Amino acid sequence: MPPVPQLTPDSPLTALLGVGDKRVKMLERLELRTVGDLLLHAPRRYEDRRKFLAIAELKLGEAATVRGKIVAAGVKRWKKGTRAMFECVFDDGSARLHCRWWQMQTWHEDYYSVGREFLIFGKPESLRPRTIDHPETELIEGGEDEFIHVNRIVPVHPLTEGLTARMMRTLVWRALDRCEPLVAEPHPEIVLKNLPPRSNALRMVHFPNEFTDVEFARQRLALDEFIEVQFAMQRRRKKLLANARGLPCAGDNRLIKPFLARLGFALTSAQTKVLKEIRADLGGAHPMRRLLQGDVGSGKTVVAACAALMALESGFHVAIRAPTESLAEQHYRTFCEWLEPLGLGVEARTGSVKTSNIQHSTLNFQGGSAHPASGIQHPASLTIGTHALIEAGFAPERLGLVIIDEQHKFGVAQRERLVRKGAYPHLLVMTATPIPRTLGLTVYGDLDISVIDEMPAGRGRVRTFVRAAEALPKVWKFIRDEIGKGRQVFIVYPRVEDSGAGEVKAVTAEFEKVCAALAPFKIGLLHGRLRADEKERVMTAFRANHLQALLATTVVEVGVNVPNATVMLVENAETFGLAQLHQLRGRIGRGAHESYFIIVASAKTPAAQERLKVLEDTSDGFKIAEADLKLRGPGDLVGAAQSGLPPLRFGNFAEDLHLVERARALVSEALGRE
Ligand code: ADP
Ligand code: MG
Repeated sequence: MPPVPQLTPDSPLTALLGVGDKRVKMLERLELRTVGDLLLHAPRRYEDRRKFLAIAELKLGEAATVRGKIVAAGVKRWKKGTRAMFECVFDDGSARLHCRWWQMQTWHEDYYSVGREFLIFGKPESLRPRTIDHPETELIEGGEDEFIHVNRIVPVHPLTEGLTARMMRTLVWRALDRCEPLVAEPHPEIVLKNLPPRSNALRMVHFPNEFTDVEFARQRLALDEFIEVQFAMQRRRKKLLANARGLPCAGDNRLIKPFLARLGFALTSAQTKVLKEIRADLGGAHPMRRLLQGDVGSGKTVVAACAALMALESGFHVAIRAPTESLAEQHYRTFCEWLEPLGLGVEARTGSVKTSNIQHSTLNFQGGSAHPASGIQHPASLTIGTHALIEAGFAPERLGLVIIDEQHKFGVAQRERLVRKGAYPHLLVMTATPIPRTLGLTVYGDLDISVIDEMPAGRGRVRTFVRAAEALPKVWKFIRDEIGKGRQVFIVYPRVEDSGAGEVKAVTAEFEKVCAALAPFKIGLLHGRLRADEKERVMTAFRANHLQALLATTVVEVGVNVPNATVMLVENAETFGLAQLHQLRGRIGRGAHESYFIIVASAKTPAAQERLKVLEDTSDGFKIAEADLKLRGPGDLVGAAQSGLPPLRFGNFAEDLHLVERARALVSEALGRE
């Protein structure tokens, strides 16, 4: 016999025995194109076929695998022959098992023919007679088959129509046989202690000798995935460090001191700690690349202001990028209030508007004498804006620091474009979505991370209640009472407009009803499809308490600061992620009054109600994000599409913190040697 040629992971699947045009198409549906893809096609479960249960031992409702020969098979008809079902009876010497298929297929009769031996996996519905409906079955044949599919722990892979578990398993087996020895170590320079070589790991993950092999092998393959991500991230960072010198932006305290003195509160120790880290970066040899994480309300804006003042003291321009116009406006107001007394110019650039607190042409920065009209001594040296900042018109001369608020809405590419506006300015990225460390190290692998892990004192408590829709009449009464006491309220629905399906509430459709429910109090409507000036008008009226309640979509999620608002009602809460609800909750509890966060989920989704209880139990954003990651995956937390998150086949962001950390350390060591 001529020797069978060796394959490499790049070989096309047609190189495998048994793969022709038809199967290629099926495999393509699973995004399997090369032999290597097949090797990485992770099993979805395993079956222990080293010993089978006897049919006589089957228990009601407990899934198990048995092995038996068909002793009878046939079609049963009823309803005058209009309905048909296929049934066959297996025998293994201990007892008989009836299997039924209620949707008969044309091939059933041929395939399940008397005398053939099968493996049968399923849950008995009844024991008299022993019956399993729609079992997974596998025909036992001789030869190679006996070796691959029985007498061992076998993998069951994700499948597609027309492709059986058995065929998939055979293909993986053949792929391993012909190319496993050729699977190279991806990074021979990285030594992995206590884990199998990659080629062994691939065999073990598909055909383990013991169940413990599976996890052992998975860890190796997951680590490889995390290592690739870390290389991409850390190489980018290394390139930056090699090319760029940090601009001297650490300042000399002459603006920060009076700023803090007039602020009206003392910084928390967490804020102070973070500012120390930032100051060290701003005076360092390389441009700062830092992520600031802090729960909603933890006081990131003041930290941003102090960082900005350091750069301003050093004579550099600062740009702050906000995710929405209304947040940019809000920052603009805050910064004007804070910086005007220091004689500093602030300018806002949003899509349509360019505003500034400087009324006339001003003296230049070095001139330093007060402007007669406004008291502003300097030309605008702090610019706040939205996407307008990325556009061509904005090119400040000495851009020293870029601050991006709520980064996860932007993505890496936009961040890069803004930073390229200057000669490698420092970068501070702020996010209120606490990101589990695994994701942080991956998505923000090229950033250092600071965390504000403490809330300012003197806040009112926020109490959280998960309620079923039946409780709504009581909730509305409670809301009226709170407004009666002078407080304000947010009401949040998922949609802007009714989709027609009627399952989920829409703000435009419910507005009249809500107005009627709360009359004579005044209600505002806020959603993403309003024009920017309309939104601003509504927000201004709400801030001034001309409106007592705001019916809104999640546009209120970001940054809105109205300390007198103490109640938030969210309906159809089952449609939101936990982290997103936590963000919404951050809009209340900003003043001294006790606040109430009421989340109402549809009774049709008891699992969702259970999930929402996490919010009743904790206000720790990190814990909530971890729970979300476990329940809904990383997409919600970081916007997977734009984050550059790789698809993982073996790694799992919810579980693999130690692997992510190990990958990060290994890669930074390897790059250090380069
Ligand atoms: P976030 O981190 O969500 O952006 P903000 O910066 O908007 O939080 O802060 C929320 C509120 O807390 C603001 O009104 C801010 O002025 C106030 N604040 C920030 N730091 C402190 C502090 N150390 N002590 C008291 N209040 C503070
Ligand atoms: Mg904020």
